[in-house]
Amino acid sequence: MLFDSHTHCDYSTDSSMNISEAIRAARKANVGMIVTEHWDYDYPTNPYAFLFDVDDYFKQFNVYRSDSVLLGIEVGMQKHTVSKDEALIKAHPFDCVIASMHCVNGRDLYEPNSYKGITKAEAVQEFLEDSIANVRLYRDFDIFGHIDYICRYMPYEDQELYYEEFPTLWDELFKLLIDGGKVLEINTRRLDSLKAIETLQILYQRYQQLGGRYISLGSDAHYKEHVGRRMAVAKKMADDVSLVPVYFQDRKMKIMEE
Ligand SMILES: [Zn+2]
Ligand SMILES: [Zn+2]
Repeated sequence: MLFDSHTHCDYSTDSSMNISEAIRAARKANVGMIVTEHWDYDYPTNPYAFLFDVDDYFKQFNVYRSDSVLLGIEVGMQKHTVSKDEALIKAHPFDCVIASMHCVNGRDLYEPNSYKGITKAEAVQEFLEDSIANVRLYRDFDIFGHIDYICRYMPYEDQELYYEEFPTLWDELFKLLIDGGKVLEINTRRLDSLKAIETLQILYQRYQQLGGRYISLGSDAHYKEHVGRRMAVAKKMADDVSLVPVYFQDRKMKIMEE
């Protein structure tokens, strides 16, 4: 069974589905799923928007937990919140921890204002440098989420990422993840675009060339219609560059069986 390792339900402020709807959708799509609610300490536009009662999360969702419905978290990395984030991770029995870049140097990547007065090259360079700085600081996570998050929101004509524009920074980021035993994610959100697939595939191939072996697949669903979306496309991308699709249960890596 393929696993959708990245979904948001009741405890993510910006999600429009509840866990029952998500589970029904996952069954329909014939995928396992990991709930990965948002956890972003000190979010710039609203410091409390993406926090939740983690004890209550486990209490309420434990009844849904099974080998095909797992409970995780998506932690938004920021350099000044690393010790608080890692204490939180350690204190709870998550199946899987995704670490993601939602902010760069205290600015929200979702906000158009964050790109004011800077070129695309400057924005991408800062995104990569801050990703590297955060991955150096954070130790306790399993998956590095959506490498193309910035592509969703940066307000430039061409919104894709090109390996050849910053080869040294991409290599440094991938080597850090590989050396730390972390897994890269194929986020399926933007895989309706052939151009996105082609440019991202070059990055996944490079991760593999540098020694990366494993990959997770995640829809980042906030709506029930999106659970398990484009898993087959992501699986084919992984196969084409010889990456092995995996997921995490009880913080242990498992190979996805087809
Ligand atoms: Zn995210
Ligand atoms: Zn997410």
